[in-house]
Amino acid sequence: MERSELVEMLDAAEMILVGVGEDFEEKDALLQEENYCKACADIAAAGVEWVMPYVNRFFLEKNQKLKTALHTLGVLLDKRNYFVVSACMNGMTAGAGLLPDRIAEPCGSYTKLQCSRGCTGSLQQTGNELLREIGQCIQGEKEWKALKVSVCDTCKAPMIFNSLYAEHYNEEGYLGHWEKYTKWLQGTMGKKLCILELGAGLMFAGILRFRFEKIAALNQKANIIRVHRSLYQMPNDISDRGKSISQNAVDFMAEMIVL
Ligand SMILES: [Zn+2]
Repeated sequence: MERSELVEMLDAAEMILVGVGEDFEEKDALLQEENYCKACADIAAAGVEWVMPYVNRFFLEKNQKLKTALHTLGVLLDKRNYFVVSACMNGMTAGAGLLPDRIAEPCGSYTKLQCSRGCTGSLQQTGNELLREIGQCIQGEKEWKALKVSVCDTCKAPMIFNSLYAEHYNEEGYLGHWEKYTKWLQGTMGKKLCILELGAGLMFAGILRFRFEKIAALNQKANIIRVHRSLYQMPNDISDRGKSISQNAVDFMAEMIVL
């Protein structure tokens, strides 16, 4: 797909729903890095998997293609009526120049802390000191087991990142944004809606793929662009309003950059 064609479809829409799927975690690229694999092994051995959203972010800072893809998404959506649902936990979608009240991250991120036992009302903003310490652990300057974490005011259990990596994921962290999303979604009925689904496989199909297919089926004025290397197929009932693109979605978005 050419950039001009994508821009044309966005221009023709009154509202744009974007799904950023798990491919934007760039897992395959990360697993090719020896240091990343070593960090993952050490983290598993120390039983602190909850740190992964920031560990991924730390390594992805060097991933220029991903940064270009997200920046381009931000540029293409600028000044439009959009909402982005991101299944990524690395917090990078939110950093793509998107409006904070136009993005929902239902899988969480590293920006908030929750009680590891899932106490409600325990959410806090993550402090820079913790992120700095995790960076030191990644670089081997500190042991993962020595990572200093705060404790829950209610039950004194350790506070961990508010993401799906938590055994007792506290969904309070994203519910406010999710309410904004469902309200925005109600407003799309009868409107020219363009759905842009990027790199969403089956992992979070309930909030992206299947959900988006349903939204497209209900709104006869909706178009859907699905970008995925292998799972690009579209169900029959919406295929005449859909465009399937068999390409890695990060590559696709990165190629849409304006130079
Ligand atoms: Zn607690």
